[in-house]
Amino acid sequence: MDSKTLQDRINQVFEQQKSHSLNLRTSSADLRIGMLRRLHDWILEHRQDIRDALFADYKKPNIETDITEIYPSLSEAKNTIKNLKSWMRVKRVPTPVTFLGTSAHIQYEPKGASLIVAPWNYPFNLAIGPLISAISAGCTAIVKPSEMTPNTSALIKRMISELFDENHVCVIEGGLEASQLLFAKPFDHIFFTGSPAVGKIVMRSASEYLGSVTLELGGKSPVVIAKDADLKDAARKIASTKFINCGQTCVAPDFVLIHASMRDEFVSYLKESIETLYETDGQAAIDSKDFGRIVNERHFNRLKELITDAKARGAVVAKGGKTDASQNFIEPTVITHVKPDMMVMLDEIFGPILPILDYTELDKALSFINTMPKPLALYAFSKSDKKLSYIFHKTSSGGAVANDCVLHFIHHELPFGGVNNSGIGKSHGHYGFLEFSNPKGVLKQRVGFTAVTPLFPPYNRAKEMII
Ligand code: NAD
Repeated sequence: MDSKTLQDRINQVFEQQKSHSLNLRTSSADLRIGMLRRLHDWILEHRQDIRDALFADYKKPNIETDITEIYPSLSEAKNTIKNLKSWMRVKRVPTPVTFLGTSAHIQYEPKGASLIVAPWNYPFNLAIGPLISAISAGCTAIVKPSEMTPNTSALIKRMISELFDENHVCVIEGGLEASQLLFAKPFDHIFFTGSPAVGKIVMRSASEYLGSVTLELGGKSPVVIAKDADLKDAARKIASTKFINCGQTCVAPDFVLIHASMRDEFVSYLKESIETLYETDGQAAIDSKDFGRIVNERHFNRLKELITDAKARGAVVAKGGKTDASQNFIEPTVITHVKPDMMVMLDEIFGPILPILDYTELDKALSFINTMPKPLALYAFSKSDKKLSYIFHKTSSGGAVANDCVLHFIHHELPFGGVNNSGIGKSHGHYGFLEFSNPKGVLKQRVGFTAVTPLFPPYNRAKEMII
């Protein structure tokens, strides 16, 4: 599509949706639930199409697509269908003495016309999850999937066009140009999932018309292993959550901080875990059907450079390290003797490389975390509740998990999101609904009555304001 046609198309859909968003203000819970049911059923019926699209995009194993794309989308839809009536219900609030005679409530109005921009790493779930929240809140939505996963993008477009009228939900495909044209439109709300760098661009654009934003970003999510942790249990859980989706997960454990005296034992368990996951019966990870590939050559080269730099500066590749450029393959890789100034510690890794850093005092490890931008998640392993609580209170992160990793992402009752550099706003379940809603405070006065306190001139009616 040439630039002029793309611009015209965006203008047309935006105007249609903006106008339809006014009709949706009074849309009932039943209407929204009906739409969510159809979306849910479409996903179930087209499960194989979704798996095929993701496999074509970056060889994502079918079961992994089931676990990380289809299941979370269905589960989000089901949870929303079950609870939407209660979320939409008007909430009465208590009346303070100074407001005697009045009543007040909160009503949840849809923000209006929304834009959802998705990344490539979980390209289906991270487009559909926010869409479920937008529909539940009564918003219209333009969805822009990632251009880096074109098969999934085309599938989402097909799904949306089969399920929705364009004035309610519509997909605009494309890369940088499409994003820039979309960000220039005065949406009521933008839900963006992607990197902190692009998140800043989104916020800058939205500031022009003061649109609200949800920014689901990334960062370096640390793992802290305390001295009393069960190392075998920790290694198994860290390996399975780090290397799923080939490490291309926003909440993947990015690096591990462990007491120096326990490092070697932990690394030996980590190696065992990787072998169990991807190298069963002596096969190489490259032959494992359960291990994916890096999404493209640019990211493959970036990750390869991280290993090269670390090795050149004294780090030790304790496991993996092999690459194959012909298929963007990088082995599950563990690096020890890592220093904070190595390239692998500067930015979010977003690939199957796990650096291990030693500490000698827990407090110093926590201070080190606090020198970095606030992460999306923080994971801590310890048998002591007191220690876990200490770690979570001394650090700041979007979310946290004790004695496991990543699981908070799929817990319906928890707000999911980052803090500062890792994001603004929360999503999932009720929090997703709230993100696309304006909780409007409404006060009802009785006809012929006024406030107890004299609020208006002439002020000399009262000698002194009662406070
Ligand atoms: P990205 O920021 O490069 O791209 C995300 C979207 O923004 C894409 O649709 C892309 O087309 C668009 N875009 C890219 N550059 C742009 C620009 N200059 N101007 C306007 N739009 C632009 O992110 P990505 O590489 O697709 O995804 C990886 C990042 O996303 C990682 O940082 C990861 O941690 C983060 N992420 C966060 C979450 C979360 O829930 N918090 C989930 C998944 C991924």
